[in-house]
Amino acid sequence: MPTTNSPTRKTTSTGNPEIRHDWSLAEIEALFALPFNDLLFRAQQVHRTHFDANSVQISTLLSIKTGACPEDCKYCPQSGHYTTGLDKEKLLEIEQVVTQAKAARKAGASRFCMGAAWRSPREKDLTVVLEMVRQVKALGLETCMTLGMVDDAQASRLAEAGLDYYNHNLDTSPEYYGEIITTRSYAERLDTLASVRQAGMKVCSGGILGMGEAPRDRAALLQQLSRLDPHPESVPINMLVKVAGTPLEDVADLDPIEFIRAIAVARILMPKSHVRLSAGREQMNESTQALAFLAGANSIFYGDKLLTTGNPQATRDRALFAKLGLHPERRNTCHTEEHAQTAIGSALQQQSNQSRAAALAYDATLA
Ligand code: SF4
Repeated sequence: MPTTNSPTRKTTSTGNPEIRHDWSLAEIEALFALPFNDLLFRAQQVHRTHFDANSVQISTLLSIKTGACPEDCKYCPQSGHYTTGLDKEKLLEIEQVVTQAKAARKAGASRFCMGAAWRSPREKDLTVVLEMVRQVKALGLETCMTLGMVDDAQASRLAEAGLDYYNHNLDTSPEYYGEIITTRSYAERLDTLASVRQAGMKVCSGGILGMGEAPRDRAALLQQLSRLDPHPESVPINMLVKVAGTPLEDVADLDPIEFIRAIAVARILMPKSHVRLSAGREQMNESTQALAFLAGANSIFYGDKLLTTGNPQATRDRALFAKLGLHPERRNTCHTEEHAQTAIGSALQQQSNQSRAAALAYDATLA
């Protein structure tokens, strides 16, 4: 046990890390400052207390409305404030979305995430979106949406339609936030998260690293997330994907080790949350991704697209999962016989222990 140099931590009587919402910035910075091996060891201890360490939740993300967003997020090629050459798309038809969701389900995804580049959904769009939720949910998939800001009433309607998760990222620290976005306040983001929680939906919220922020901003972002009570069920930790035409296209690269440290600290602060290795994965080599899983990341996006940035191809994911002995997290809902036949969980039961990781990785990444 690496007790020297470790920040003091409270533990329950069973030795499990407490679920805390009162981490101080100094405590979090002390975690970041741990020797790398000690930090990863501690993150692994927390991770193994709450999760199968070799299980990775897989989500698929579809952009249901692309580009021309009125917000000015400096990292985002979908912002209408920047010229990035992005092809804009109107809100997809419901049938198109359902077709994509079926393909994702067949490929082994357990959650289907739908993203729209809006400041907040208009009434006529929300009506369509609610029907998308109902139809995707009926396929037996968990549903997630990111539609910009929502108020209490909109969140309630999404929840009633069957939406499981709502994604709304905090992006960065409150202190650095004004350098990245000016058209939406940090307080408005927190209000949306409160509305989502109040409506009974699960929260997906994280941030983006490598936007020129200071180390303290990374600690402060994680502090903000850990203050949410309950913690977000999903915490996407993104590495900036630099897109030509956005104000951040030439920002200095973040050292991958610093990125891994942030994953590990997120795992320690939010022990029961799924920490998602999210945007920027395509730019990471296998070693960095392996370290991220070791640090406690246990969720990825699968598919050819992550909103408008690339995502590793199916064959690369399949190979990496097999190499690392990882397997997709089992879905906990199988509403139809067809689904049950194709679900990862069924495959699990049919495989020997020795071969099942590789087989499942294959199932999960079938194109
Ligand atoms: S991150 Fe979202 S809100 Fe910000 S510009 Fe992009 S699509 Fe719009």
